Amino acid sequence: MFNTDCLHGGYRPENGEPRNIPIIQSTTFRYETSEDMGKLFDLEAEGYFYTRLQNPTNDMVAARICKLEGGTAAMLLSSGQAASFFSIFNIASAGDHIVSSSTIYGGTYNLFAVTMKRMGIEFTFIDPDCTEEELNAAFRPNTKALFGETIANPALAVLDIEKFARAAHSHGVPLIVDNTFATPWGCRPFEWGADIVTHSTTKYLDGHAAAVGGAIVDSGKFDWDKYADKYPGLTTPDESYHGITYTKRFGLGGAYITKAVAQLMRDFGSTPAPMNSFLLGLGIETLPLRMERHCENARRIAEYLNSHPKISWVRYAGLEGDKYYELAKKYLPKGPCGVVSFGVAGGRAAAEKFMAGLKLASIATHVADAKTCVLHPASATHRQMNDAELEAAGVSADLVRLSVGLEDADDLITDLEQALENV
Ligand code: PLP
Repeated sequence: MFNTDCLHGGYRPENGEPRNIPIIQSTTFRYETSEDMGKLFDLEAEGYFYTRLQNPTNDMVAARICKLEGGTAAMLLSSGQAASFFSIFNIASAGDHIVSSSTIYGGTYNLFAVTMKRMGIEFTFIDPDCTEEELNAAFRPNTKALFGETIANPALAVLDIEKFARAAHSHGVPLIVDNTFATPWGCRPFEWGADIVTHSTTKYLDGHAAAVGGAIVDSGKFDWDKYADKYPGLTTPDESYHGITYTKRFGLGGAYITKAVAQLMRDFGSTPAPMNSFLLGLGIETLPLRMERHCENARRIAEYLNSHPKISWVRYAGLEGDKYYELAKKYLPKGPCGVVSFGVAGGRAAAEKFMAGLKLASIATHVADAKTCVLHPASATHRQMNDAELEAAGVSADLVRLSVGLEDADDLITDLEQALENV
């Protein structure tokens, strides 16, 4: 079950072996003969040869996340950005098109709208609250995937995963869901029809702001062979990898991740350090306990802010009356997450003054870790966006993003109170 898998998933020591996931801090692995090594390169035998491609510590922690999400295969990457990039570039190239929710993390938006556009991949951004007709209208014959975030950062919009999955599947493409804020404790997108899940493990999965990292998990459900013409990279021989056809050799459960490792990790090298993966695995052990407290603290703080005269609006999907309350009840019944967005009456200047007055919560370009932190996205993570793009991303100029940590909620409320008094 879930709590047990957080502790034991991906690693069961044999007699006399380390109790914790071992840190295999080695770039290389020794073999007796060149023939043994050759079989690994041909993917004919399983084993490790160079950490840029695979490392046992990384794989054990990937297997833990795979189990938590209910997938068939998973990989770790050096950052969430790398995970977002790989998840799409693994099935799309120049001349292709992707449909994405507009309310995604600012860094992901920039990756898609600027950098990947420069690589010849075009993105159409749609409001995730749009009708099914509007969503369907965004697809083109060369569309290769649909992308969204379970809980959008920082707009905190909850994705209607079933609606998105229906649209993706009716156009013969996979739905990729960034499940960073929800974590598999809160929502398992595969159970609602998503095909691939990505994570910035830097956030709640690690949980202690110790290591930047990413993960991709495959549900194994998307039938690449049914749409073989659309996904030749998975369904025809890969000349850069000994003529392997990934779906034939590894089946639907393994093709997507094996290709991402064999091609993209080989060529881009976005490999996490084994030490970072160890920290991630350690963090996951307490994920359920932490998420429960994050959600409880955030709900109390959202209620406090909601009744404060100097707060003009509050967005928290766990708050009754919130625009996303019903969707959160469906997809995130245990609680959405620990992040609360709100506006300070008086706009941008008031928001900045309020933030400067906080003593316990720190101003940090981070979110979703044990210690409470606060950010003004319009002047930080989303500052590359113009006003129209900010509006589409659900980020108003007065938006303050509070990532509620694991401190005593009363201490946090005292801190907010004193900072608001001076605004
Ligand atoms: N996805 C989401 C939802 C995020 O919040 C972030 C970072 O904040 C990322 C992806 C990128 O992850 P990383 O910072 O680990 O590269």
